Amino acid sequence: MQRIPLSPAELMRLQSACAEGGGVPEPVAAGEAFRVRTSGGVALARACEDGTFALSPSAFAVLQKLRAAGAQPTGESAVKLAGELIIRDGRRCFYCDGEVRGEDAVVERLLSRARGGSDDLANLALACRPCAGAVCDRPIVQKVRFRDERRLRRSAA
Ligand SMILES: [Zn+2]
Repeated sequence: MQRIPLSPAELMRLQSACAEGGGVPEPVAAGEAFRVRTSGGVALARACEDGTFALSPSAFAVLQKLRAAGAQPTGESAVKLAGELIIRDGRRCFYCDGEVRGEDAVVERLLSRARGGSDDLANLALACRPCAGAVCDRPIVQKVRFRDERRLRRSAA
């Protein structure tokens, strides 16, 4: 079981992705968010006390596929894009305005590829890993709301 932080929207997307392709939803036990019998085994998510979700291997595999389809550029192109974003915006997270460094820097597609977003610089911003993980491929309106909340919380702290 892999323990992963998931937003409610991401959890719902994961559940429906597990059910696609002939998965059969099964009754859940106490503490389970969903349970789907798939050809690759039972995909299930159990809510943990710390707010993360424990995923079975087959559910985790589906999540990785989902994230790869919607998420950020990776590899060589990401390094090059990150360099250009740093020149444009500085080493700041688009969401929380915190400083981002090295491994922690993620090139974030504001409009995700799954929603038709491109790798044009106009659609990209630098984000810290926790913020990028939290927004995942939420709609842009929700991302802007998340940004406002993060910055409010930072200025209040
Ligand atoms: Zn951030």
